Amino acid sequence: MKKDKKLPDIKINKEWCKGCAICVEFCPHDVLAMNGAYPEVVNLEACTACQLCDVRCPDFAITVNKNEQEETNEAKK
Ligand code: SF4
Ligand code: SF4
Repeated sequence: MKKDKKLPDIKINKEWCKGCAICVEFCPHDVLAMNGAYPEVVNLEACTACQLCDVRCPDFAITVNKNEQEETNEAKK
């Protein structure tokens, strides 16, 4: 269960999602992309957990969990 860093947890509820792609359009980091009728996470590494997708989804079909943890100095070089 070792991970380099905790990434946000993005959940897409396909039962509620109508495939409008608003989440994809609003994501500033191209984390999401449409895959057929539904969005999918294509670049989780880039997600900043800004939750824009979460807030903008009209159907509450996408939720972003920040998975916060203590900062390490690893990002600084
Ligand atoms: S939380 Fe922000 S960066 Fe992450 S997928 Fe949603 S809009 Fe994109
Ligand atoms: S904004 Fe919501 S309903 Fe629209 S594609 Fe994204 S998750 Fe689905």
